[in-house]
Order: sequence, then C-alpha cells, then structure tokens
Amino acid sequence: MIKRTIKKLTKMMTVINEVGPFEQVEISGVSIDSRKIDKGNLFVPFKGANMDGHQFVEAAIQDGAAAALWQKDVPNPPVGLPILMVEDTLEALQQLSRSYRNELNVKVVGITGSNGKTTTKDMTANLLSLSYKVQKTEGNFNNHIGLPLTLLRLEEDTDIAVVEMGMSALGEIEFLSKLAKPDVVIVTNIGESHLQDLGSRENIAKAKLEIISGIKENGLIVYNGDEPLLRKGLSDYVGSAELQTFGRSSENTLYPVSIVQKDDGSRFTINKGNEEFHLPVLGTHNILNALGSMLIANYFDVPFEKMNEGFAQLKLTSMRMELVSGAKGEKIINDAYNASPTSMRAAVDLVTTLSGYEKKILVLGDMLELGPNEENFHYEIGSGVNKEAIDYVFTYGKLGQFIAEGAKSVLPEDRVKAYENKTDLISELKKYTDTKTLLLVKASRGMRLEEVVHELQK
Ligand code: ATP
Ligand code: MG
Repeated sequence: MIKRTIKKLTKMMTVINEVGPFEQVEISGVSIDSRKIDKGNLFVPFKGANMDGHQFVEAAIQDGAAAALWQKDVPNPPVGLPILMVEDTLEALQQLSRSYRNELNVKVVGITGSNGKTTTKDMTANLLSLSYKVQKTEGNFNNHIGLPLTLLRLEEDTDIAVVEMGMSALGEIEFLSKLAKPDVVIVTNIGESHLQDLGSRENIAKAKLEIISGIKENGLIVYNGDEPLLRKGLSDYVGSAELQTFGRSSENTLYPVSIVQKDDGSRFTINKGNEEFHLPVLGTHNILNALGSMLIANYFDVPFEKMNEGFAQLKLTSMRMELVSGAKGEKIINDAYNASPTSMRAAVDLVTTLSGYEKKILVLGDMLELGPNEENFHYEIGSGVNKEAIDYVFTYGKLGQFIAEGAKSVLPEDRVKAYENKTDLISELKKYTDTKTLLLVKASRGMRLEEVVHELQK
C-alpha cells in the first residue's frame, strides 16, 4: 500500500493548505471508513447525502490516522489536527491514486464486461501468480471509489495489478481506464445488465469499450469475439495495441476444442497445444472466462501447459455457481448472487448438460432493472427451456410469472409452478427433491433467493 511523506502527498494531489501539527511524517495506506483505521492511515471523509464523514475525522486521528483530508466547503475544520484541506475529497482521492499508479512500476490489467468480471479477475490473477507478484481488486471494489482504493493498496514491488472496472452509465469506464492506465484490457462480454439505464445493447458495448481509452502504448486488447457488437466496435481500431479474441467460434484467437461438464467442474482442450484443462468451477460461461484469462496470462509469457496449476487454486466468491448439497441429498447449484438474461441462460444451459441426475428443477426469480422489455426477457428464459432435460420450473416473483408463462409453452402445465410467496414455494419444492435431483437457484440479488437454498439445506 501507499507509503509517502505528508510533504510528498501535497505534490501528488492538489492541497489548498496543510493545517497540522503532523506528528507522523508519513502516511501508510488510505481508509475511507473511520471504523477501520490502521496506524498511519490517511483518512478520507466523504460528504454523503445522508451522512458526512467529516464528523469522524477527529475519531480517525485518535485511532491512529496520520492525517485526514478535509473538504473546503465543510464548515468548522478542527484546529490542532493533521488536516490537508482540499477542494473535493473524492477528487483528491482519485488524484492521489492516479499519481501513485504513475509512480509505480506495475503493469495493470483492466477488466470490464457485463458478466464475468470478478470471475475473470480471479482467474487471471491466479494464472499470473504462477510467475509474478500479483494483486487484484478485493471483492467488487470496481467503481470511482473502489478503483482508487485498489490502486492505493498496491505494493511497490507488485508486478501486475488485476483490476475490475464496473459501470452503470456511459463515460464511467473511460474515467476509470484513464485513471488506472491499463497495459492490458479485457471485455468479457456484452449482456443486458444496465439496459434500463443505457437504452440499448449497442450503448452497453460502447460503454464497455471505453476501457480502451486509457490503455498504454503497445498494450493488449482482449475481447469476446463471438459478440458482433464488440467486433464491430473494434473494427476501425487504429491504436498501437494488439487485438486478441476468445470465444466458442474457431474464428477466435483462442477457442475450446472439446468440452466435458462434470459435477466438479469442466474439462476442456484448446486450439493451442494438447493440454487438457480442468476448471474446478461449473458452467460453459466459466470456460469462456478462463479463455480470456489464458490469453492475458500467455501475453505475460505464462505457458499454457502451466495453467492447470493456476486453475486448481481457484475459489470463486460464494453464491456464484456454488454446488451444495441439500438436506435430502439433492444437489443445488446456488447462483443466487445475481442474474441477467445472459447469465440466466448460461446457468440453465449448464443444468441442461450435466448428466447423472434423474430429475432437474429450475428455481428462477425476477431479473431486475432490464427496462421496458423485461417481460419478454423473462418469457424467453422460460420458452428456451429444453423439455427433454428439465423436469420442473418453479418461479418466484412478479416477473418470474413471465418465465412460468414461457415455460408453459414447452413443458406440460403441471410441471411449471409460479409463486410470489417464498414460503409457499419452499414447502412445495421440498416435495419434489431427492438424492437424484439437481436444482438451479437463480435470480437478481434483490430477490434473496439464497433463502431457498438455505431452507433446502435445513
Ligand atoms: P458484477 O457486475 O456484479 O460485478 P461480474 O461481472 O463481476 O458482476 P461475476 O461476479 O463474475 O460477474 O459473475 C456474476 C454472475 O454472472 C454469475 O451468476 C455468473 O454465473 C454469471 N457469469 C459469469 N461469467 C459469465 C459469462 N461469461 N457469461 C454469462 N454469464 C456469466
Ligand atoms: Mg464483479
């Protein structure tokens, strides 16, 4: 993490004046949470809509912070405390992280896309760790505050930083990319998340491709080549970066040649070399995330043959395609972390292809924030169900009703059950599960469908 003298800090961001006295001459690390202060931290308060972090400056310093920022328009700055006065604390944090990044010798990998950012980040970091000292975004710290904090956590001797960049509007990724100045960028895919705010998939692609705006000279751009909008968006690219693609189609730089799905993950081979890879996470979509990561690691000279070692270490954050057992011995794929049509289809496809079960049940809830076409998106998930593979569809929520309607167009009506009450859904569902059952539980975060998983485990 950042270690700089206070004197140096005033050159790394615009400071209006220094108040003092400064008992510690150097800061180490930055915190925006006064309850989590380590000795020597720089505390950065934000003036939020509900709460003003400035009221905690004194406490943060008492807890060991070496200094705190103070935003000029906030009245009554405390006297006798180590304070750096700035125009805007958020901007100062961003400036500081930009300067710090520029001072470091680190290579930066920037990751964006509608789905699979965090997964790709974890996979890429694992593969690169085989040969380098790597740091990555913690959890989901991927926005205008999270990215600066991620950069400020970098150690001087880190070789490669793998950072996630998220967005909800045009212009945001451009800002983040220009801040992090990545050497390598990847766009994992284009889905439908944020369709409500951005209006069209074209706009989503445009927003994601902003990630190339901050790329360094002679870098690498990796993207999902099966997505026409990304191909089109980069067709007139004239910069110095190299372009590489991954995807299912053999037109890509890297594509899978054979795939076998099992309970303990996927096995696949690629068009480069004969190695069989074992990915200990479920789903074809995760093979795609892996392919993107493999291109990046290979660009940094990690040989393909070595990559199984990196995959073996993989642990994805919980509720993302987690395979757990229920109380009756049934297997449950807990993917209740979030959902969009792309990720919902990917998860349903996985259940469709897994073998060794006598009964397969989909438990699907609302996908939120999809805009005016939301009913259609839900209907299509239902109507896309493969009636040879799937035995029952349970839906939860108002929009879930449309999944049920779609499912009724392919399955007999008595195999489709729609609920708006979770307790009713759970008690009915329990009648259908046994040791030979596989369930998929998936919906948007707001639906809290993991409660279904927890009940089945009781
Ligand atoms: P967020 O925007 O919440 O940060 P993210 O882009 O980081 O999401 P992950 O956390 O990696 O994505 O995965 C979230 C969900 O998307 C999971 O439910 C997962 O099953 C699904 N998913 C992951 N990768 C893909 C992909 N390549 N295509 C479709 N769905 C995917
Ligand atoms: Mg994420």
